[in-house]
Amino acid sequence: MNIHEYQAKRLFKDYGIAVPEGNPADTPEHAEQVARELGGDGWVVKAQVHAGGRGKVGGVKLARKHREVFDFSREMLGKRLVTVQTDSFGLPVEKLLIEKIYPIKNEFYLSVLVDRVSGRVMFIASAAGGMDIETVAKESPEQIVSVLVHPAAGLQSYQCRKLAFALQLQGEQIRGLETIMRGMYHLMLAKDASQIEINPLILTDQGQLLALDAKINFDDNAVAAHPDIVDMRDPGQEDEKENKAQQFGLNYITLNGTIGCMVNGAGLAMATMDLVKLKGGAPANFLDVGGGTTPEKVAEAFKLILSDKNVKAVLINIFGGIVQCDIIAQGILAAVKEININVPVVVRLEGTNAEAGRKLLADSGLNLVAETDLALAAEQVVALAEGA
Ligand code: ADP
Ligand code: MG
Repeated sequence: MNIHEYQAKRLFKDYGIAVPEGNPADTPEHAEQVARELGGDGWVVKAQVHAGGRGKVGGVKLARKHREVFDFSREMLGKRLVTVQTDSFGLPVEKLLIEKIYPIKNEFYLSVLVDRVSGRVMFIASAAGGMDIETVAKESPEQIVSVLVHPAAGLQSYQCRKLAFALQLQGEQIRGLETIMRGMYHLMLAKDASQIEINPLILTDQGQLLALDAKINFDDNAVAAHPDIVDMRDPGQEDEKENKAQQFGLNYITLNGTIGCMVNGAGLAMATMDLVKLKGGAPANFLDVGGGTTPEKVAEAFKLILSDKNVKAVLINIFGGIVQCDIIAQGILAAVKEININVPVVVRLEGTNAEAGRKLLADSGLNLVAETDLALAAEQVVALAEGA
């Protein structure tokens, strides 16, 4: 789960991480008022969306007059912001963060995440801040330094100093970085965050370190234990299909291919996606309808897949173990009653009650391609998607 920058910065404050002075606003009038209350002679207007890369596409604007705060806010609010980190539809801008402008001497990158290789918490820093860290990693990996935290020992001062030296910090700034890193570490553990990213972390011309940007991801499997974090959820920023799927207890992830996949079991779903790829296609989603499923759940799953405008063909691959194939067939038929299917559908049913399931589908008079061999089914669906 993700939260907005203004929410992340509130958490930062709670954990002793210095952030710019600022407040959120949701109308141009309110934004201007926030700027007046902050005082000073420059304010930044920042679109609050669950994506970075805003600066390059007009989602972060520097204002020198109160009137400009109002004008920029009016331009941004109610629009959708498309950045390198969103899809082509972008995300809606319903809130802004208004902050004082700080004179920047240096921009750094600092993040903490769970490193999957070592299974430990890892801090990553780079003097090449402000830009996309993936590009830095690719083009100048020597500019990236990292430390792994031992779970029993916790974060050590020498590890903070190692990163501070890499960023060429001096004097009090070194201690300042340690305070920020300790704040990030405690926040991560206390709230089950999977990643906290500050890009950029700035050094002001007064020598102060500030988190100018803030991004926090939380572990979806742990978030239920943190009602304060759940309260920060903004469904408007999330994938509508994924939220709907969650309501019905389906495991659904949107991908960017053209072949909708309905499968039971996460392992089989992964294998099915691999097979689609192998045959030259690309899956539009990951979907595991689960073991103890019902016709209603299957119907919802099928409707979700078909609501994706990118889907050109659907592959239903069910191996009936706990789930019964006739239940799946009933679900498909229930969905079809409610909506039109305007793309080809290839169905492979095997296992418990497969015969009964196949018969239900065959007798329905629907234009479905039945296939018993999985490789052939994948080949067919790729061909049909390309033909469509
Ligand atoms: P994004 O990562 O989405 O582009 P950031 O919050 O990192 O958004 O802002 C982009 C850039 O805008 C920063 O790298 C910084 O140069 C500038 N900026 C953002 N906030 C401020 C601020 N309070 N004062 C001065 N410059 C800022
Ligand atoms: Mg940023």
